[in-house]
Amino acid sequence: MMHRFYALSTSFAQRWGGPVRKLPLDAGGSCPNRDGTLGHGGCVYCNPAGSGTGLAGRGLSLAAQWELWRNRLPARWRGARLMAYLQSYSVTHRSPESLAALIEEAARLPGVSSLSCGTRPDCLGEEHLALIAAAPFAETWLELGLQSASDETLTRLNRGHDAATFADAVRHAAAAGLPVCAHLMAGLPGEGIDDFLETIEYVNALPVAAVKFHNTFVARGATLETWHAAGTFAPMDRDVYVDAVCQGLARLRSNVVVQRLCADPAPGELVSPAWAADKASLLRDIRARLEAHDLWQGAAADAPAGPPAWFSPDNPPPEKKP
Ligand code: SF4
Repeated sequence: MMHRFYALSTSFAQRWGGPVRKLPLDAGGSCPNRDGTLGHGGCVYCNPAGSGTGLAGRGLSLAAQWELWRNRLPARWRGARLMAYLQSYSVTHRSPESLAALIEEAARLPGVSSLSCGTRPDCLGEEHLALIAAAPFAETWLELGLQSASDETLTRLNRGHDAATFADAVRHAAAAGLPVCAHLMAGLPGEGIDDFLETIEYVNALPVAAVKFHNTFVARGATLETWHAAGTFAPMDRDVYVDAVCQGLARLRSNVVVQRLCADPAPGELVSPAWAADKASLLRDIRARLEAHDLWQGAAADAPAGPPAWFSPDNPPPEKKP
């Protein structure tokens, strides 16, 4: 089957000669949008654990979490390189000293080869960026939430920052030599497919190296749960989401690595829609629709003539990142 987008597994295989597994680590901490620095309550879609596993709150150190996830790796991944993904709340919402200690702790994890830090674009001072850029790993990524390029939507989401803040953070990170993965959401309150596509156009113009697409789902404990119960928010229909992802891929620059095509709710987290629980069938349907409509990443952007060679793991990666 033709490779129709630049998958993360392909990018890893090209750069490292084999698979890399990301293991999620909950470093505790908080988020300025929850602890009162910017506001309380958080983004409307965010669960109270701040997208983390909650394991830090249960007293598990990074090393204990690492062992837990390593031991759960299926046999086929036992030889894979391992990336530590610091993902709870906003990892850089801490002092430079605390961030340096956290990076040192992550670097001591047995068998770790790379690092990814998830945070907000307004939590990145020059010192934070320099520390992450100098982290002692084979590669270090920064994951930044944008969700929507519409400031009106960002206000509705209670994000606490605008799109320009995201753009500035991406440019600063890229200038520091850090590849950035942008988190984008389809089906946000008040948005349709066109808004999602506009967000992709916005990201195309920035030095973003990867994206994660998420379907907006109602998480237990999130503000969106109240809106959903009151009938003021309804998640996107499944077939509309599949269409949004396929159109979104067609609009996306062909050298952007696609790290994710849908959300992956934690056990017990999902309130609605029920279809969001079946990630495997959703991914199958997205791939089938790309085939059926002869679409590929970049078809409506920079690769109208066909899927570029680097979508296949057997070929070298694109010469130059944005
Ligand atoms: S989504 Fe991220 S930025 Fe928003 S409240 Fe949750 S942890 Fe904070």
